[in-house]
Amino acid sequence: MCGIVGYIGTKPAQQLLVEGLKRLEYRGYDSAGIAVIGQSGLSITRAVGRVQSLEDKLEETGSLEGTLGLAHTRWATHGTVTQANAHPQRDDTSGICLVHNGIIENYAAIKTYLEEKGHQFSSETDTEVLAMLIGELYEGDLESAVQAALREVTGAYAIVVVCEQEPDVMIAARKGSPLMIGIGSGEYIVASDPSAIVAHTTQAFPLENYNVVKLTRDHIRTSTIENIEVTPRIMQLEMDLGQIELGDYDHFMLKEIFEQPSALSNTFRGRLDKKSGKVVLGGLDEFAKQLVKAKRVIITAQGTAMHAAMIGEYLLEDLAKVPTECEYASEFRYRNPIIEDGTMVVAVSQSGETADTLAALEEAKDRGALSLGVINVVGSTIARETDAGVYLRVGPEIGVASTKAFTGQVAVLTLISLFMARRRFMSAEESSALLKQLELVPDKIERVLETADTIRTLTEKYVHRENWLFLGRGYNYPTAMEGALKLKEISYIHAEGMPAAEMKHGPIALIDKGMPVVFIANRGAQYEKVMINIEEVRSRGGHVIAVATEGDTQIKSIAEDVMYVPDVPEALSPMVTVIPLQLMAYHAAVLRGKDVDKPRNLAKSVTVE
Ligand code: GLU
Repeated sequence: MCGIVGYIGTKPAQQLLVEGLKRLEYRGYDSAGIAVIGQSGLSITRAVGRVQSLEDKLEETGSLEGTLGLAHTRWATHGTVTQANAHPQRDDTSGICLVHNGIIENYAAIKTYLEEKGHQFSSETDTEVLAMLIGELYEGDLESAVQAALREVTGAYAIVVVCEQEPDVMIAARKGSPLMIGIGSGEYIVASDPSAIVAHTTQAFPLENYNVVKLTRDHIRTSTIENIEVTPRIMQLEMDLGQIELGDYDHFMLKEIFEQPSALSNTFRGRLDKKSGKVVLGGLDEFAKQLVKAKRVIITAQGTAMHAAMIGEYLLEDLAKVPTECEYASEFRYRNPIIEDGTMVVAVSQSGETADTLAALEEAKDRGALSLGVINVVGSTIARETDAGVYLRVGPEIGVASTKAFTGQVAVLTLISLFMARRRFMSAEESSALLKQLELVPDKIERVLETADTIRTLTEKYVHRENWLFLGRGYNYPTAMEGALKLKEISYIHAEGMPAAEMKHGPIALIDKGMPVVFIANRGAQYEKVMINIEEVRSRGGHVIAVATEGDTQIKSIAEDVMYVPDVPEALSPMVTVIPLQLMAYHAAVLRGKDVDKPRNLAKSVTVE
């Protein structure tokens, strides 16, 4: 969380930094701030709220002159949302100024030490402690002061640091939180992710953990915090600006919902060999033997990715016949998990930077598991840390509420399951038939998207209700969980998702007259059982909204409203049944006047534990 951007070059820094912040705003939007070093020294402007508030303030107070600067958009972890706690933060003696993404875990002890030395703090943040520590250790060389300070801190950080006394130097460093260094001609752009870099250069490298980079206008030096020089691996960024712009859509979430047919076509492209029934995944080839022999799979994730993981559990057991379980990464990491020989751990994360998932992955690797990544962002930390992996290829996801990354994750988990299944027990015929069906999924999603207006009208009827239930069975139990999460995260309606049968073991007590209860009731092995659960809700006065298979007329007589989806084999159905739920959540949020792309308290890419 938290977006940071730094610039050193020959262009006016302010405009470039503010533009960068706008691209990174989805990462945090509690406050925003900027610092620029120019002829008249260091100037800082900070504002509570969105980047727009910062722009308004800059307009009022006048622009900051200079060609070197840094900027930040905050997702608060330590200290309330105030101007004093906004970044950049500075020290009180040496002219140090920095922006930070992450948490300095031992900040309290360092703060006590610094207070005893007479330093005066003016914020409640852990970040100010780091600025003060660098200032305390500063002896005329910013690079070595930063290295020395970072040797003392524990926790996670991506930082960009400048010092008034060295107006032509910018230092950046990272451990845990992501940071990318863009290399232009005579200029460098440092940012939390490539979206703030691609407008300027496509040459970049991700800074590795415990690495520090020193930038001047004509020189770059990368070293460890122990000052051992390292050579970064420069890569070509493959993102074009159109992918990260809104185009004709009102919101990124809507754009990304509608991108799902083409996104999934990309996920499948070149990977389905329908003739042999084999799935082609270059990233797994080297480990194919280990995958075939795997005795157990643990899929670890958080949030929406966890719901994809739960579907992955069904897929791997059902298709590849390998015992599988899902674990919240945050729980897995700290509960002394048992990893036996033949265990494979699959980390699922859109950004590839999710701190909880990364920590779980490290734990699994330490215990000897083979690790796989199911990641969207190419070159991200988890993608680099895993033994092997499969990229989603769905393009950048900007909307905080994940949509195309969810269907992309389910699609990739389906591919991995079939990759293993065909090499284990599944016949070529069975596998080919599923691959053919898989290829049709994007078109089927398209057909659901054509009903978006009907779903909006339907949502209007229920949008005033404060409590909703989402119920499904089998493969669509996780879909129900995902439907509930989408609704709560962007419209702030209280919603719960659960297995349809679980309802009668407690939650049924919540059902009163008019409560919206969304059933995923597409045709499948448990269809009849779902019908029984629908009757149970109806007899208690709940309003049933069903996601059902086209042509199902029976359901019309018992559900208040029906959202139809094309027929899809059950194992592939979540990619299609989730679409009406995404649209419903989107319309509910818009109808309630909420900020769809920037829901309160949330931010994308959760880089703190
Ligand atoms: N811990 C810092 C703060 O609360 C940075 C948080 C972030 O990464 O957004 O200000």
